[in-house]
Amino acid sequence: MVVFSTLEQGHLIPAFQTTLHLAHRGVAVTFVTTPLNATALASRLPRPQSPLLLRFHHLSLPPFDGLPPDQESCHTLNPKHFDNLYLATEQLQPQFEGLLRSLAVNADEDWMKPTCVIGDMFTGWVQESAMKMGIPGFTFYTSPAYGTLLYNSLWLHLPHLDNQYDTVTLPDAPTFLTLNRSDLTPSLLKATRSSPWHLFVSRQVNKNRHTRGYIVNTFLELEPEIIEYMETSTGKTVWTVGPVLPYDYIAGSSATTPLNRGEASISEWLNQQAPGSVVYVSFGSRNFLSAAQIRELAFGLQGSGKSFIWVLRTPPETENERGSSQSLLPEGFERDTSGRGLVIRGWAPQLLILSHPSTGAFISHCGWNSMVESVSRGIPIICWPMAGEQFLNAKWFIEQLRVAVRARRGDGGVVPREEVERVVRVVLENEGDHDLRGRVQHLAQVARAAVVDGGSSARNWDSLVKHFSFLQTSSNESTRIHSPSQES
Ligand code: UDP
Repeated sequence: MVVFSTLEQGHLIPAFQTTLHLAHRGVAVTFVTTPLNATALASRLPRPQSPLLLRFHHLSLPPFDGLPPDQESCHTLNPKHFDNLYLATEQLQPQFEGLLRSLAVNADEDWMKPTCVIGDMFTGWVQESAMKMGIPGFTFYTSPAYGTLLYNSLWLHLPHLDNQYDTVTLPDAPTFLTLNRSDLTPSLLKATRSSPWHLFVSRQVNKNRHTRGYIVNTFLELEPEIIEYMETSTGKTVWTVGPVLPYDYIAGSSATTPLNRGEASISEWLNQQAPGSVVYVSFGSRNFLSAAQIRELAFGLQGSGKSFIWVLRTPPETENERGSSQSLLPEGFERDTSGRGLVIRGWAPQLLILSHPSTGAFISHCGWNSMVESVSRGIPIICWPMAGEQFLNAKWFIEQLRVAVRARRGDGGVVPREEVERVVRVVLENEGDHDLRGRVQHLAQVARAAVVDGGSSARNWDSLVKHFSFLQTSSNESTRIHSPSQES
């Protein structure tokens, strides 16, 4: 099978983990991506106990107006170019189809031949390519069914443009899900029917309708009614396989992979903190806080008196200034909080931090991978959504599952320092809602039960592997029957 993912870490990481899960279970996979992303993913490849039928294939992004050269992931890109990266990725379709054709004809071994493809919510064109090749396509949703259905429906129909009511009615989402205008992101509120993002999402949603089925990074027990709605409304099979985490993290209580030097020092630092006493602060791989927000957050963390690990990404407008991330923090911040505060600049070992017993809360932008990683480790979330479907993820976790609390924004959309202090204390000291920690720990058990033998996600993995193995075997058999060397 052939897998292609949207070029951003929140999609690439779970798509690659899914690929590894399948390869470990004997499915042959070609992971197609751009060269820089392939190198980054390959460097995270754990050493397998037995050889895997896994290989990478590279496609090169075509030059695209508004996309700087050598930019292949949102992780390294200035947000003002994000849309251009998605549009440039869509231009890969002819190259992708050329690759499928050449693999079908020239593959050295049977296992390399494409028997089906997996794309995702922002690469609906992959389903079109599968149709042209006459092979089945599948869609991997890196977000939960709830967030994805609502996000797609909002961008496809822009229902809030049709009237001025506060309640927003979504044409293709379950009727029991309601949204208010205040739930919508600024970009949705500003969108029109000619917005490039509306047109892009519409193309992907419509092309994704050709999928044979949906593979979703969620677990059945998290959103049973929505999975049921998705199956009945689309008439397609939905395989819930989450939480999609690296093998080590699934059943065990902590990471067992060897630590590299940076990770070891973070672990040592965490070892010195009391259990459940540290708030981990990260806004994912592609979001930046404004300079004003960085200062408020710093004062809030300092004022809370609590221990913290803060993954600080420098806003792009300052990235070329010398010592910029230092100068964005209040004078003496790192000195004054040394011992109880750790600022990480660059890529943090998030799963390792969330898995450490000293971590007690997560201030998160509510990217789905972060949320699923956090609840799988039993860590309550302080929601600070910034873009995309993050506002929907936050709403579901706060209002329905009640395993998260909201950091409230003040003037100009900034979360003030007093609010940071309040919300950190509420969660770390278990103030206010005394059952919050109990509920999230219960959810962690449910998540773990879903992926271990006999669990809902484990059963879906089995069913998927059977399905893919069947496609592989039947393709190999038909190749053998029709190959000239067999016939002569
Ligand atoms: N991540 C990480 N270290 C970082 C930042 C992010 O390991 O410093 C990982 C995180 O664990 C998650 C992914 O990158 O798996 C981010 O995905 P998410 O959906 O949370 O947010 P996005 O970055 O897509 O907004």
